Amino acid sequence: MIEKNIRNIFLEYPEVIYGFTNIAYSEYASRYKSALVFAVPYGEQLTIETYSEEKFEKGIQDAKKVLEEILRLLQEILDEYKVKYYIPPVAQNNEIDLTAPFSFKFAAVNAGLGWIGKNDVVITKKYGPRVRLSAILIDEQFVYGEKILKSNCPENCKKCIDVCPYKALYDVQWNINSLRSDIINYRLCNEKRSLYIKAHGRKSACGLCMAACPFGT
Ligand code: SF4
Ligand code: SF4
Repeated sequence: MIEKNIRNIFLEYPEVIYGFTNIAYSEYASRYKSALVFAVPYGEQLTIETYSEEKFEKGIQDAKKVLEEILRLLQEILDEYKVKYYIPPVAQNNEIDLTAPFSFKFAAVNAGLGWIGKNDVVITKKYGPRVRLSAILIDEQFVYGEKILKSNCPENCKKCIDVCPYKALYDVQWNINSLRSDIINYRLCNEKRSLYIKAHGRKSACGLCMAACPFGT
């Protein structure tokens, strides 16, 4: 019943992709059985021709509003059913190792939403990488999505690799056992995006390696 009510929320947001996964792999496994992961498309689906950092940042902010609405609705239902849940933080709380406590990306792959592209971002068939991910951990079992085990990026596609101004991507195909450090020099990417803070008060959203992706366009 609770699953049906949750799925009903997403009927109101047909553009949003979602799925459930069990989180036995996670450090939260002793407290929550599952994660619900969802991907909200960015407001404007930018290509490399239409890309600007400002438009990309706006697309993220628009998606965040939808995402927050959905989270609110989910919380209402979970509270009503008195089911234990937790919304893990999205941002890295540690600028040294740059890992979020619960990886939305890994949960998305496990829930069957997409694979990790050569740009180190979840690639969905419908929108490519132009989505904002969110997740909520729930102490309940659901019908789980089918885990994706390997990349669907064409072997010879290098669009994201070539567009990165800092050469932070290694042109490596992801599989379920890959580490982030196999795919991207994340420190370099983060360091370069952080240079933006001085002038703009925030990191650069840099979506070049997303806008270049042919999936979803
Ligand atoms: S976000 Fe920008 S800097 Fe980072 S890997 Fe992608 S293109 Fe390069
Ligand atoms: S641009 Fe090509 S290689 Fe990069 S993530 Fe998209 S499909 Fe994969």
